[in-house]
Amino acid sequence: MRIEEDIKLGFKDVLIRPKRSTLKSRSQVDLIRRFSFKYSSSFWSGIPIIAANMDTIGTFSMVRSLSKFNILTAVHKYYSLQEWEKFINSSSKDVLNHIIVSMGISNADFLKIKKIFLLSSEIKYICIDVANGYSEHMVSFVKLVRNFFSDKIICAGNVVTGEMVEELILAGADIVKVGIGPGSVCTTRVKTGVGYPQLSAIIECSDAAHGLDGQIISDGGCTVSGDIAKAFGGGADFVMLGGMLSGHNECSGDIIEEKSKKYMLFYGMSSIVAMNRHSGEIAGYRASEGKVAKIPFRGSVDVTIRDILGGLRSSCTYVGAQKLKELTKRTTFIRVSEQENSIFNMFKE
Ligand code: 5GP
Repeated sequence: MRIEEDIKLGFKDVLIRPKRSTLKSRSQVDLIRRFSFKYSSSFWSGIPIIAANMDTIGTFSMVRSLSKFNILTAVHKYYSLQEWEKFINSSSKDVLNHIIVSMGISNADFLKIKKIFLLSSEIKYICIDVANGYSEHMVSFVKLVRNFFSDKIICAGNVVTGEMVEELILAGADIVKVGIGPGSVCTTRVKTGVGYPQLSAIIECSDAAHGLDGQIISDGGCTVSGDIAKAFGGGADFVMLGGMLSGHNECSGDIIEEKSKKYMLFYGMSSIVAMNRHSGEIAGYRASEGKVAKIPFRGSVDVTIRDILGGLRSSCTYVGAQKLKELTKRTTFIRVSEQENSIFNMFKE
């Protein structure tokens, strides 16, 4: 047994220190980033925020709404080939440019994804996604997918430490997805005692990835737009959001009405609800590692996205970053023991 003594930080442990700036207004801030990749020869430019590949969030309807903002959606892996075909046939090139196709690491997933890419060559991104990216099988699977899709942008995860980021990049990933345990409907840390504070994971993993010309996605744990700014400030190239995008028209989930208020269910992908929905039951050897939450229904995701982007632009102006890309360079974190003054939260609608 070993103990690491240095302090690891989450979003709630820091604030970003303001810096002198020549920017006059947040409208001058450019949130678009232009990416080239380690293996794929594709380029992608857009706002590097990604709707999570959860079955409630990564929907075709989310793709349509978020692509208007130049934001990506990681489409969940439960759509049938027929549903993909219908969606692809009815979508413009621009919409398809904002899709990440998710897959697990089974042969069936691989077969299916090959068929999806036969339907369209416009889609650039693949996300190989497992809760625990530390297995040998994951590494060999990334190699297999890289060999077959030599020019796609491949994301793989989830991991939280630099050495595993390097291993996945060397195996063929362009981008590594980082986060174990920070998610809003995740109970991994409680159930297993395993995890890593997300901001430290970002700082350490982005350093490892950038050293090899790779990139990272910070996945999970953002609860407000300030957390997204901290993730980018810490070195994340992309930020993936689940909970912050839940409860909208574009999500999949029934709307429940209680005492004339509307709610929508949002659940973790390894919660009992998700496991019952997709595999019929929970296998005897595994426990649920996800929660179920009832979210007040919020209407169109457009309003939430505008709010997030406004917050992010404002973060950039506070530190004098004219481009989102400059945010990391201009970020100094200060460790704090307080965040929001919550005195009036009890009166909040
Ligand atoms: P959020 O933005 O809601 O904080 O985090 C979203 C992320 O939580 C997802 O992208 C995924 O990585 C993770 N996640 C989703 N469902 C589950 C679950 O059931 N268990 C765990 N451990 N993580 C989950």
